[in-house]
Amino acid sequence: MPVSVATDPYYRLRHSAAHVMAQAVLELFPEATLGIGPPIEDGFYYDFDLPRPLTPDDLQEIERRMRHIIAEDLPFIYRVVGADEARALFKHQPYKLELIDGLAAGRDEYGEAGGDSTTISTYRQDGFEDLCRGPHLERTGQIPADAFALLNVSGAYWRGDERRPMLQRIYGTAWNSKAELEHYLWRLEEAKKRDHRRLGKELDLYSVSEEVGPGLILWHPKGALVRIIAEEFSRQAHLEHGYEWVISPHIGRAVLWQTSGHLDFFRENMFAPMDVDGDPYFAKPMNCPFHIQIYKTRLRSYRELPLRYAEYGTLYRYERSGVLHGLTRVRGFTQDDAHIFCRPDQMEDEISKALAFSLYVLRTFGLIEFKAYLSTKPDKVVGDAADWERATEALRRALVEHSISYDIDEGGGAFYGPKIDLKVKDALDREWQLSTIQFDFNLPARFGLEYAGEDGRPHQPYMVHRALFGSMERFFGVLIEHYAGAFPVWLAPVQAVVIPISTERHLQYAHDVAERLKAAGLRATVDEGKERMQAKIREAQLQKVPYMLVVGDREQVADAVAVRRRSGDDLGAVPVASFIARVRDEVAAHS
Ligand SMILES: [Zn+2]
Ligand SMILES: [Zn+2]
Repeated sequence: MPVSVATDPYYRLRHSAAHVMAQAVLELFPEATLGIGPPIEDGFYYDFDLPRPLTPDDLQEIERRMRHIIAEDLPFIYRVVGADEARALFKHQPYKLELIDGLAAGRDEYGEAGGDSTTISTYRQDGFEDLCRGPHLERTGQIPADAFALLNVSGAYWRGDERRPMLQRIYGTAWNSKAELEHYLWRLEEAKKRDHRRLGKELDLYSVSEEVGPGLILWHPKGALVRIIAEEFSRQAHLEHGYEWVISPHIGRAVLWQTSGHLDFFRENMFAPMDVDGDPYFAKPMNCPFHIQIYKTRLRSYRELPLRYAEYGTLYRYERSGVLHGLTRVRGFTQDDAHIFCRPDQMEDEISKALAFSLYVLRTFGLIEFKAYLSTKPDKVVGDAADWERATEALRRALVEHSISYDIDEGGGAFYGPKIDLKVKDALDREWQLSTIQFDFNLPARFGLEYAGEDGRPHQPYMVHRALFGSMERFFGVLIEHYAGAFPVWLAPVQAVVIPISTERHLQYAHDVAERLKAAGLRATVDEGKERMQAKIREAQLQKVPYMLVVGDREQVADAVAVRRRSGDDLGAVPVASFIARVRDEVAAHS
């Protein structure tokens, strides 16, 4: 995604590096034709049509030439040109000519985000002049020569259109210092190691089967166990915080989705209908209409509110196969959904509580850094202006009250209400969208939701959608990457593996130990394999099991286990009862 000059402090640096790279590529391949070269998050790219595929050696040579251009400390020179002048200037560059035609026709076509200019302008350094809106650094020498790197090359269709030519896209990155660059490269490497698709396989957590269908997740025993532990913790926490659990079906009649409006504004994200006795049914893309039906089964009094219905509701949404990604972009997922129905005088308190509750639960899972986005009223809305204002203010106040830093997405709300998106930062400082607290002024009106007020008259309740983990699939993906698969002890699917030094002499004792751990509520297995002890320890470490309990003659006599942690620490021999007490304390301390 291209970034904007207004919000990205690295914009000038990276865009300037992209121009320097393009100059270097043209020196190497004078016949190259150029696509576009915008700065993006953490770096930049430039697209080229080249006579042959680039090799890693080419990238090194391009980097070398870039350093030379930087050392020359050339000025970046801006000028505005007329359309005909621009066409003459870029007469050998067909893609640039196409962009110039667009600009001349009044379209913003620099291919760079952050403006809506249709003035035709260029930037030049040395003999290299590029169609460009800028801005740039003043001189090439301002790019730190030891703080940029070219990362890789991939294919990219011109304008993302698969009917147009495939160009070669060179990705690069640039930073203010060598230390920043090194930290970024470390994060890239680390992200690869933590990729949940890779760890999902290595740790046997989940899979996707072509025969079942893309984007549909199969949870294996260990993955399912982590999910069940997470769900049970959250289920109990919901009950303690005044939520009631409900359960609803996976499908509903078309008439329901007609009333809810989903068939009008969400149809392209829904699976095709199935026919049941001549009546079309749809797999649910959201739980809301079901919870509304539960609300509507009888007349509600003001005394009953607030009602907080929670459900682990499994949803189906159509996504193009090209965007599906592991656990984080899927077609079937379970949302930890809740709907809060309340009176106007309860609304502010409910929002504050919903936010506090989300923060509490996420912190329990070790996610402690948050960033919120408050989306406000767009142009076209339903609901009255005063409600919008009060709701937006309640959301804002909750963020301030709980000291969550936030950006305002002005006008970015859905047509039916303002919302907070809560993103968490993981161990690599990456932001993941998890929780949402979303007002809805649409569904209560469409379904005619009411409660009998103190005045004996019918009133419309406020309705708030709240997802906390977001989806169990996505949340699991985030947890895997955050912990690099090494889940904390309370979440680990296997907490301890007992390793007999000799399978002849110590196997029975190993099983006795495992049984005692299990009887104490811990999750333990015995490694009965024929490999040597060191190999078993290595395997348990690869499986990220928190504790390895080695047992031999000495341990057997002492009713003890020799404890090693997955980090490599050797805790020595510990009586079995003490080890059990230690792990139980650790599990109990998580919340
Ligand atoms: Zn440019
Ligand atoms: Zn909802």
